[in-house]
Amino acid sequence: MALTIAYIGLGGNLDNTLELLGSARKAIAALQGVSELAFSRFYRSAPMGNVDQPDFINAVMAVETSLSAHDLLKALQRIEHSHGRVRNGLRWGPRTLDLDLLTFGLEVIADEGLTIPHAGIADREFVLYPMAEIAPSDFSIPGLGRLDDLVTNCPKRSLEFIAHG
Ligand code: AMP
Repeated sequence: MALTIAYIGLGGNLDNTLELLGSARKAIAALQGVSELAFSRFYRSAPMGNVDQPDFINAVMAVETSLSAHDLLKALQRIEHSHGRVRNGLRWGPRTLDLDLLTFGLEVIADEGLTIPHAGIADREFVLYPMAEIAPSDFSIPGLGRLDDLVTNCPKRSLEFIAHG
């Protein structure tokens, strides 16, 4: 059975986000055909776009999976929904839990429901810094280049470490 290493971004900006991300981590690790390889530290950052909302908390998780990218995304969406994500039409609005499939092995996918690598990775400090903590030192993101170069070129902005994963 072919196994793929995938990186998943976890984030949220409501009161209980740390607990929620911990619970999402457990739910991801418990998925059939998925096992956790590593989990980054938790970081806080100021919101992008609509700034009239609480700071975000983010972390990145590496998993090994026998699922396809599309099936893994479906499973992540089920976990988002079971954690009570509310869609209110505000693109960058408050959200209980956001799970993004950041990379999936060396795959590059661009279809209606799935873009891999996830769009915007290259300029998101809250993705790159935690990802670099847990990825191999020579890790490259398909189409974007070496992760350590992406980190060097991405300002840290307000990103700060808040807790160990
Ligand atoms: P958002 O609410 O901004 O997290 O966007 C969720 C939507 O993005 C869903 O409809 C997904 O189908 C789509 N999407 C496309 N690529 C990805 C990805 N790599 N990870 C998570 N969602 C994705």
